[in-house]
Amino acid sequence: MPRSFAIERGDSVDAVVATIEQLFLVQDHDVRIMKFEREQRDLPKRKAEIEARLEGHRQALAQAKSAVQHKQADIKKVEVEIETRRDKIRKLREQQMQLKTNREFRAMEEEIRAVERDIAADEERVLMAMEEVDSLQQKVREREQQLRAEEESVQAEVDGIDQRGVALQAELDRVKAERARLAAEVDPAWLRNYERIMANRRDRALVPIENGTCTGCHMKLPPYICHEARRHQAIVTCEFCGRMLA
Ligand SMILES: [Zn+2]
Repeated sequence: MPRSFAIERGDSVDAVVATIEQLFLVQDHDVRIMKFEREQRDLPKRKAEIEARLEGHRQALAQAKSAVQHKQADIKKVEVEIETRRDKIRKLREQQMQLKTNREFRAMEEEIRAVERDIAADEERVLMAMEEVDSLQQKVREREQQLRAEEESVQAEVDGIDQRGVALQAELDRVKAERARLAAEVDPAWLRNYERIMANRRDRALVPIENGTCTGCHMKLPPYICHEARRHQAIVTCEFCGRMLA
């Protein structure tokens, strides 16, 4: 019972009605301030989510580049192999010069031919691998284009969020100044109560009674509370949620 009548001031009905109207206005501003501040707090998270979209594109590009490098390394290995085979032929040719008989000479020639065939096969492998490198490099360029396009779209969205941040701050400053102006006109005792409840509830401190129910917590109010609130002679609070009733 005493919580419902925190302040018995004996204010005139008109003064109480006017104070409640002022407080509703202050509350409208507080609700907007809280909404703007929530949005402001969410901006960095929204930016991070948008920037995270680049990660997939960056990975795809890195994979494409790595595929090119692997293929080029394969080519390098085969080229070294070819060089080794050519050295072998040079050595065989030198040995061939020392040979005494035609039969030995022809046998050596056969061996050299076999190595030359291996070289031809290796060169064929290199050519095919180079074609693959071309198409892999094409893929790298495509991935780079996709990443750039995504970077542009991400940048545009991030710029949009930054602009929203600036606009939000301006709007917040404006609403806060207006709120301060309105609050200065409210009876300090009522304002103190309002602010204490608002700090606690963080949504609304002043709520209308509808069909005998507190619209803050939706509990059915005892009839005497509704009656006291209607008399507009004092601050009446909900005994369940502590919000001021109007
Ligand atoms: Zn309530």
